[in-house]
Amino acid sequence: MSAFLGHLPSFQRYLEGDNTLPNYDVDANGNIVLMAGEVFCRVPGCTSSNFKFSNTGNLRNHLKTHASVSLAPAKKAGRYTNESKMTIAAWYNQHFGPPAKPRIPFTVRGEISVKEVKKHLATKHVVTFPCGACASKQGAKCPITPYTCAYLTRYFDVAADFDKDDYPELDDIDVVAIEDDE
Ligand SMILES: [Zn+2]
Ligand SMILES: [Zn+2]
Repeated sequence: MSAFLGHLPSFQRYLEGDNTLPNYDVDANGNIVLMAGEVFCRVPGCTSSNFKFSNTGNLRNHLKTHASVSLAPAKKAGRYTNESKMTIAAWYNQHFGPPAKPRIPFTVRGEISVKEVKKHLATKHVVTFPCGACASKQGAKCPITPYTCAYLTRYFDVAADFDKDDYPELDDIDVVAIEDDE
């Protein structure tokens, strides 16, 4: 396996298995296109579809047992160009990248729904409030202050509903004021 793949989070996810694998692309010669680093068989209905081969070479050997697919001979191993690295990384990111964050839930009155936000956070095992970021910012309400609350940022698509320019950073004076109160 190439070193650059080892550092790719989406590739790590792929290696963990249990993913929905995309169908093979077929090249102009009718051969399936294998991506660098692949170790799972993508032939639909394959009884080994959950089996992780120890390397792409072994996957290739397995693929030869499928009469339904044809495979081009392995290319000579060489250095990847930056362009091919980008293509490979984009493929893993597209199929095995992190799922999109959900939109922030709102009440019928157009306010962020604390109840629904907390419900979602609970599924992420976030049950302690406020978060560190809200605790250190005067006036911040956890978990509903956009661009302050770390929970909101981490688990919701804040940018879909709030413009960052509307939430300028509070300066350090606020933090000092809180410390003075203690
Ligand atoms: Zn197979
Ligand atoms: Zn918070």
